[in-house]
Amino acid sequence: QAFLQRIDQHNPEINAYITIDAERSLAQAKAADARIAAGTAQPLTGIPIAQKDIFVANGWKTTCGSKMLDNFIGPYDATVIKLFDEAGAVNLGKTNMDEFAMGSSNETSYYGKVQNPWDRTRVPGGSSGGSAAAVAARLCAAATGTDTGGSIRQPASLCGLSGLKPTYGLVSRYGMIAFASSLDQAGPMAKSCEDMALMMNVMTGFDERDSTSLQRDKEDYERELGKSLQGLRVGLPKEFFADGLSSEVAAVVESAIAEYRKLGAEIVEISLPNTQLSIPVYYVLAPAEASSNLSRFDGVRYGHRAAEYDDLLDMYCKSRAEGFGAEVKRRILIGTYVLSAGYYDAYYLKAQQIRRLIAEDFAKAFTQCDVIMGPTAPGTAFRSGEKANDPVSMYLEDLYTIAVNLAGLPGMSIPAGFASVDGKQLPVGLQVIGNYFDEARMLNVGHAYQ
Ligand code: GLN
Repeated sequence: QAFLQRIDQHNPEINAYITIDAERSLAQAKAADARIAAGTAQPLTGIPIAQKDIFVANGWKTTCGSKMLDNFIGPYDATVIKLFDEAGAVNLGKTNMDEFAMGSSNETSYYGKVQNPWDRTRVPGGSSGGSAAAVAARLCAAATGTDTGGSIRQPASLCGLSGLKPTYGLVSRYGMIAFASSLDQAGPMAKSCEDMALMMNVMTGFDERDSTSLQRDKEDYERELGKSLQGLRVGLPKEFFADGLSSEVAAVVESAIAEYRKLGAEIVEISLPNTQLSIPVYYVLAPAEASSNLSRFDGVRYGHRAAEYDDLLDMYCKSRAEGFGAEVKRRILIGTYVLSAGYYDAYYLKAQQIRRLIAEDFAKAFTQCDVIMGPTAPGTAFRSGEKANDPVSMYLEDLYTIAVNLAGLPGMSIPAGFASVDGKQLPVGLQVIGNYFDEARMLNVGHAYQ
């Protein structure tokens, strides 16, 4: 009730939620009370969380931030939704996001922009901007996000939160509306690494309904919390501290790294030589996969259908022209182009080859260090509208996050401190990148600083 009250009070301006259903949330809370009374509670029983509106949820409106799905009610539960429900968590609602998770500022949402609670004139980051703003403004205790190229970590950084993108395949993608299937991964967004560990314990695990789900034993993500960092080798990629990084962010990140040295970490310089290729590679591969994934939105099976049309082809064209926003159309056009006969080898295949080189850079780096640290985003939260008409500058927001998705590695952002920008104190994130399946150690690395 306390969270619902805060939502009532602040959501009309912050716009973090697309859908709220107080009755359903309170019914879940009541069930949680009963479970607590019966002694069958789990750690998240009764904890009010929010779900990114990319997860299909039975009976809940599920929009993915698009007009295309404005009339879509989920007919089943995504695995992530089901797991949190079974753990007894209370779902407060579905959070705002960039349309089909394409964006870094939450400004491509059909449901309007989201305010950054630290400075209401600024963006919360994206695409999980609603989840980030909801946690930061205490409109929920924690939230889920998804990260295809930085969409958990960059908004966590801009809103002063912790956010983790797990190793590809740890969290089921069943019922998570697909953007770029080989990159998409869901993860927690919360106030602390401890909270994220509790959420990881719930949301990970093999799922036969997702063909890319990994068959591994369930892990306890709390198990490393509190261990000493003595002797931890921290790699700093020199390419992450070069052109493009704002001096305010660099200063905060460097002071956080100095703290790690005091905690016993050993700092080593490493190189990820193909860093500058990750954005061009991503903007071939992600649109290619998106153009294929989004072909299902045709006005027949789900969502928006144009009111008037001449024939079947005209119905497809009009429904898609009306249902999709500008950024989604841009991605579909790029994607179909790079996949077309004659260009496939030159763009798509070439990008796949470079993707392998990027993964090999990390493999080599992890022979020299245990975790990699650097900035999450090149700057602090920018003003709403500032980059909206400049896609390339928006794409550069993911300079340090995208390579992690291309390699399938786990990446995390934790609050590093604050930078003074235009007389405001704005949060800065520290990114921690780990080797495959090293989330438990990463959570402890973040925890030690918190
Ligand atoms: N900002 C990137 C994009 O627009 C990443 C988005 C994401 O991780 N979902 O594609």
